[in-house]
Amino acid sequence: MILDGRVVAQKVLDGVRAGVTRLRDRTGVTPTLAVVLIGDYAPSKIYVASKERAAGGVGIQTVDHIHPGGVSRDDLLALIGRLNADPAVHGILLQLPLPPGLDEDEAITAIAPAKDIDGLHPVNLGRLLAGAPGMVPCTPAGCLEILDHYGAKLEGAEAVVIGRSRLVGKPLAQLLLARHATVTMCHTRTRGLADHTRRADVLCVAAGRARMITGDMVKRGAWVIDVGVNRLDKGGLAGDVDFESVSQRAQAVTPVPGGVGPMTIAMLMRNTLLAAERQVTR
Ligand code: NAP
Repeated sequence: MILDGRVVAQKVLDGVRAGVTRLRDRTGVTPTLAVVLIGDYAPSKIYVASKERAAGGVGIQTVDHIHPGGVSRDDLLALIGRLNADPAVHGILLQLPLPPGLDEDEAITAIAPAKDIDGLHPVNLGRLLAGAPGMVPCTPAGCLEILDHYGAKLEGAEAVVIGRSRLVGKPLAQLLLARHATVTMCHTRTRGLADHTRRADVLCVAAGRARMITGDMVKRGAWVIDVGVNRLDKGGLAGDVDFESVSQRAQAVTPVPGGVGPMTIAMLMRNTLLAAERQVTR
């Protein structure tokens, strides 16, 4: 079975659109996302444009703070401070990476946790660890949404996560643990990677290594979530999973593109709505 992220993302976006309308009808407030883009990095401009398109599609308002020439540390922190204090702004999207010279951790930590729709603030990551999530990082939340939509059984399942980044691997492992999976995390120092992956009922791969997971590394009947997005030298995109061979053995697998990718933006929209609801009805 192909786990079609476009279908699941559309369902999420339909729900967000309905939620935005309900909130506006009830309170007169339109959820508003401040978009902060510093520097002139072409991929970031593309990501921001697609996030703004998605926001427009569900009725979320965006306000641009675009600085192609860069800003100083003080100006960036002052901007974030103003957005934190502005009651008309419910979410702050700080597009990463920041240009060299700006400290990403410092900037993320400056965002008010209630407006941290990427879920990367230490308070939100800590809440996830504590089992009382505030804002959950979008890509891992999207992985769970796909598994739930298609009915994967997580309770008691052997779940293996490859990758331990703050953005994907670590929060994803926490989400799976919270759903009572038995979670193993793998990384570059893991010995015998295939011994771990072959045990997985649910295998989530977020390593950024094109097609590193091949069919012989996957248990028959497994659910496989491929987070990887790798640009190939000869052009085109590849996931971390070799779709051809893995789909012969897995029960279900996400394609790249069209798997986890569309979920990330959809979950960002859901987080923005959630942030607005919590701030308005506080
Ligand atoms: P990252 O920060 O580079 O982290 C990669 C992780 O994978 C690290 O923990 C690394 O281990 C581990 N790793 C790398 N090579 C490995 C190997 N051969 N065996 C085992 N573990 C290995 O990357 P990220 O931000 O988490 O992103 C991962 C991938 O997901 C990338 O391809 C990225 O483009 C993609 N991504 C997609 C979306 C989406 O919306 N679809 C969103 C975010 C990221 P160490 O910690 O030991 O170095």
